[in-house]
Amino acid sequence: MRIAMVGAGYVGLVSGACFAEFGVDVSVIDSDATKIEALRAGRIPIYEPGLDSLVAENSRDGRLHFTTDLATAVQAADAVFLAVGTPSRRGDGHADLSFVFAAAEQVARAARGPLVLVTKSTVPVGTGRQVQEIVRRVRPDLAIEVASNPEFLREGSAIGDFMRPDRVVIGTQDGPDGERALAVLKRLYRPLNLIEVPILATRIETAELIKYAANAFLATKITFINEIADLCERVGADVHDVARGMGLDGRIGRKFLHAGPGYGGSCFPKDTLALARTAQDAGAPMRLVETTIAVNEARKAQMADRVIAACGGSLTGRTVAVLGLAFKPETDDMRDAASLAVIPRLIEAGAAIRAFDPAAMDHARALLPEGVHYATGALDAAAGADALVLLTEWNEFRALAPQRLRQAMRGDILLDLRNVWDPAVMREAGFRYHSIGRL
Ligand code: NAD
Repeated sequence: MRIAMVGAGYVGLVSGACFAEFGVDVSVIDSDATKIEALRAGRIPIYEPGLDSLVAENSRDGRLHFTTDLATAVQAADAVFLAVGTPSRRGDGHADLSFVFAAAEQVARAARGPLVLVTKSTVPVGTGRQVQEIVRRVRPDLAIEVASNPEFLREGSAIGDFMRPDRVVIGTQDGPDGERALAVLKRLYRPLNLIEVPILATRIETAELIKYAANAFLATKITFINEIADLCERVGADVHDVARGMGLDGRIGRKFLHAGPGYGGSCFPKDTLALARTAQDAGAPMRLVETTIAVNEARKAQMADRVIAACGGSLTGRTVAVLGLAFKPETDDMRDAASLAVIPRLIEAGAAIRAFDPAAMDHARALLPEGVHYATGALDAAAGADALVLLTEWNEFRALAPQRLRQAMRGDILLDLRNVWDPAVMREAGFRYHSIGRL
């Protein structure tokens, strides 16, 4: 089988390379010529563990191609996936569907025969229907069948998530055309039958909503434990143990119960907002999701206040080391990262910032205020700092020797906003140690 993947971002690149690994012939298309040139030259424009070798092997074996020429790739394909961005629309929080609609129209214009057009981007319920209207209007002569196949991979473990997903969701229209589209998608995912991955076949609207419901639920779970953490601090309880005690209940589960600085990233913030807007428009407002959004936003601002308070109420003349800039470990993605909310507020309050991230510094430079000093490593960031703030829980930070960290610093204030270190060990090393919701 041959497919075309429109969009060579985190999702398109990983999905394209993984489908190639499944034995499919894949053309990954991007309108960004520099990205495509880099990929052709064997350079991966994003940081994602394992992606470089997967791309290299499948390119070498002739199953994975990169191009800016959408028309040629589409004409050869049995199915075309849309993996373009769906950011928040400025002003109202709705998903901006302009990339999806533009790409759908380009695909329809280029098509020469019947094909399945699959939306992999996260799109609000009802988008599949709108995409179907676009392709019918542009190409009334062709059988282009629209389907939905939302993606659940996580940056940092994207390849494993795609190759061994918890489930695959496929939304198609009712009737024989929809069944044909379902059959094409099931064929593409056939290697997953060997490991008994559940394939959930639904209507398009249901598939679209599953993705938003899952993300909003996870965002709510994080926000819930963050509020429990705040309560723990007031009443002398330990959020780590509370989360463990809750999570051992099989109905709750242990994942996504880690208190921290509030969720960020390329998905949760925009997807919760878009779901809230969709629900309002549909006359079924989701107050729980709306509250989650508001609580999470406020939390990011509070994190900077915590740092200021830990430093005695003023940062004037103080140097603050920040470890971790990406929104989570094992990625260079800075979209809605806590660092973007915290660092500018620390600078406004008078601090000099020494920052380090193992993968995201190039992206961070373009997004953070000028004047941030980018260090060469964690200990270099800590050098001469009055306070150190851990914002992203990269493994290499967990492994730092507390004594060496302490010796590198001028001051002794440590804010572990991801609860990665043992409070007793850090206090023994001479830190005034603050974490989230722990004793
Ligand atoms: P991204 O911004 O990293 O990549 C999108 C790419 O599409 C860009 O390279 C852009 O140049 C390209 N593009 C846009 N319009 C195009 C066109 N008409 N023709 C060719 N290329 C075009 O985005 P992403 O993070 O990969 O996310 C893509 C979608 O997947 C979003 O809807 C997102 O919500 C969803 N998603 C993302 C993740 C994640 O972890 N990043 C996980 C699951 C789902």
